[in-house]
Amino acid sequence: MLNKIMRFPGFRSKAFTMSYDDGAVFDERMLDVMNKHGIKGSFNICSGSISDPEQIVKRYAGHEVAVHGREHLALARAVGADAVADILDDRRALEKMFGRVIRGMAYADGSFSDDIVALLKMLGFAYARTTQDTGRFDIPSDWLRLGATCHHTSPRLFEYTENFLSADPNAVYARYPLFFNVWGHSFEFDRMGNWELLDRLCDEIGGREDEIWYATTIEIYDYTKAYGSLIWSADSSIVYNPTLIDIYMEYRRKNVFIPSGKIINISEV
Ligand SMILES: [Zn+2]
Repeated sequence: MLNKIMRFPGFRSKAFTMSYDDGAVFDERMLDVMNKHGIKGSFNICSGSISDPEQIVKRYAGHEVAVHGREHLALARAVGADAVADILDDRRALEKMFGRVIRGMAYADGSFSDDIVALLKMLGFAYARTTQDTGRFDIPSDWLRLGATCHHTSPRLFEYTENFLSADPNAVYARYPLFFNVWGHSFEFDRMGNWELLDRLCDEIGGREDEIWYATTIEIYDYTKAYGSLIWSADSSIVYNPTLIDIYMEYRRKNVFIPSGKIINISEV
């Protein structure tokens, strides 16, 4: 049996996020619904299509903004120099606009290659989301090829939702942390006339702060990396958290809180 299990902040075992592309005006209506339910998301934006930066900064307050390519190039098919420019120009423009470091990305048209992944790594990107549905709640192992659980048009969306909500974190067979990640474009709700699908999803998932961590992708990435940075003694009696993030975990079925910068003697927990 696994002795050490990552928990999310507050010892929660579930994290939920939404990752939406293109930065269209319909994000505004989507954000109204998400904000009402306390749900956080990552919005992947093409800075080349922004006409009013001030309005954009206001729109995404409290959420993550990430790179989607300045001109939305399909990177795997682009000339190398154009791909580099599309990624870097977008990141520079968004960082300047928002005044923060931006390390997330979603591949435009879901297009990437091993070379693009290597490039993103070199440029210091933390994660990049693909357009591949995994149907799973796993913590990703390769964050530069991050799939989503599903697109919101998946016929299984509410089946996944039900599975996620009903999963018992204390069941011996299901003790890993669960990460539910839905992707799409807000303009699809408008085009398909199904905004009620977003209402239903946020209604079912939202308002459960005691059991679900509503976070952005970069927050979940940073937390997961911090957990992986814990330093353990060989007999697991002492653990050191060298990061700036407070860590929550289970060790031999006991909740252990490891504050940022602290050394914890496990036997005294
Ligand atoms: Zn796109």
